[in-house]
Amino acid sequence: MEFTLELVRQIVGHDPQMRDAWRDRWTRLKKLQHRGSRRRSRDSGPALADQSAQTSNQLREGGEGNKAARQEAADIVAQARRDAESLLAEAREQADEILRNAKQASKEAARRNAISPAVARLMTRESLRIVMLGRPGAGKGTQGMYLKEILGIPKVHIGDVWRENIMNGEASGLLASEIMDRGDLIPDELFMNMLSTRLNRPDVADGFLLDGVPRNVNQSGMLDAMLNERGNSINVGLYFDVPLTEATTRLAGRRICSKDSSHVYHMLYSPPLRYNACDICEGALVSRSDDSRQVIKNRWYAWGVQTDAVVAAYGAAGRLVTVSGVGSVEEVTDRAVGSLAAFFG
Ligand code: ADP
Repeated sequence: MEFTLELVRQIVGHDPQMRDAWRDRWTRLKKLQHRGSRRRSRDSGPALADQSAQTSNQLREGGEGNKAARQEAADIVAQARRDAESLLAEAREQADEILRNAKQASKEAARRNAISPAVARLMTRESLRIVMLGRPGAGKGTQGMYLKEILGIPKVHIGDVWRENIMNGEASGLLASEIMDRGDLIPDELFMNMLSTRLNRPDVADGFLLDGVPRNVNQSGMLDAMLNERGNSINVGLYFDVPLTEATTRLAGRRICSKDSSHVYHMLYSPPLRYNACDICEGALVSRSDDSRQVIKNRWYAWGVQTDAVVAAYGAAGRLVTVSGVGSVEEVTDRAVGSLAAFFG
């Protein structure tokens, strides 16, 4: 970078004291130039009188009587040049330091975001079969949305499988709906049949996140048998633990997209951009009929009666990871990924 007046202006421009000092300097130079011009015009005629914008070079041409003024102007210019150079050096040093700090900060940020080897191993495992467990409102659906992306495996929700079955006119789906409409309990075999068909698809050959099953010990046994036949098994049960108060707040505010039930919102914690419309596909948002406070409480206790034993069985078999589901969605996701990474080592 070269020394120019413009550069000096830029460097000192934001410091009023410095700006004033430089302004005084140029004013003084101008006066000296003016004196030189007047003398020159007396010596060389009026044509040169208006060229006061020229520098001390002109002063040098001004004749012997102007010598002192010329010297003073040269001193001012020389001093100005020295000051500007030291300002420039200082600015360069400051810029270098800012650059060094920025590089350091970016390295530290990269280190913070770096994936630990254990998490990387988890993400690149050959296969990963996970059952998500937790009471209604524990956040299984929400966490499933993020975990499937992070872990690179599809999420299989038994409710979606059932809906798809009905849409495709499959006998098992229609029969389950008929039974439910009559108010009777849907036999485990029917659910597991639908699940078995779904797990035959190639997208889940190397892993999946299962949501909604097994709900009882019988279904859990059937799931194990089904996978054993295919030469594999559930690696781990991932249990999200939340208290009833938190689950109630969550479920009472839950809204689900009517076009795609994997698009889940919460009126308080993660509201849609537009009231009652899905951000992703613009489907109308609806609350589930069983998300009223009393029903939530009933479902909460009913889950424990049926499914606590499943959780206990995974624990006894050394295949259980328990994660607190309380906290922001991101915190819970981080916790789940960290705990799974620790489990798989
Ligand atoms: P589950 O599938 O276990 O019944 P959901 O994932 O559907 O639970 O979550 C229930 C409600 O709670 C949803 O409205 C969801 O947006 C909200 N939710 C889920 N996880 C959290 C969280 N960590 N913090 C706040 N709200 C959450």
